[in-house]
Amino acid sequence: MVAALFIIDVQNDFTEGGALGVNGGAAVAADITTFLWANADHYCVVVASRDWHDANSDNGGHFAMDAEPNFVDTWPPHCVAGTYGAEYDPALNTGQITMHVRKGQGVPAYSIFEGITDDGESIPAMLDRLEIERIDIVGIATDYCVLASALDAVATGRSVRVLTRLVAGVAPESSVAALATMQEAGITLVSEHD
Ligand SMILES: [Zn+2]
Repeated sequence: MVAALFIIDVQNDFTEGGALGVNGGAAVAADITTFLWANADHYCVVVASRDWHDANSDNGGHFAMDAEPNFVDTWPPHCVAGTYGAEYDPALNTGQITMHVRKGQGVPAYSIFEGITDDGESIPAMLDRLEIERIDIVGIATDYCVLASALDAVATGRSVRVLTRLVAGVAPESSVAALATMQEAGITLVSEHD
């Protein structure tokens, strides 16, 4: 099958030490790099997304500006365009990424499908153009942006797999729930791979 790899939001603000650092995030970044050395050739396209918010804006209510964030739909400011926090974690080897997607300019955007490639193409248009049949998904965070991206991916009618050794979540309970939701939606969870 013609396959794409989606690497979701492996950015400094989502790994340890970042504004919304997830436990295990840096390890996932390094493990994705190892995975890419062995497997990048198996993919027609390796797509990486970045959350990419506006500075000096609540980004459509996504940032808690004057109140405490609730960590459900309001968050501390993170991944502001052009800042270190918005860059890929340095443990992620970007040399094998063949397409970059940014999302969240002025709005909340959890799914990669809400983003646009550096060439200005939407994700559905890109998938159709490259005749992608299967999408594999890795990255951060299992319970938010990986979940939203995986659900949108399977809704396109394609085969979708989440590689569960290469994801990290905000909280254990919501991550377990997210993986169950994915399975119910017909997404395959792959725990053992090369
Ligand atoms: Zn965000």
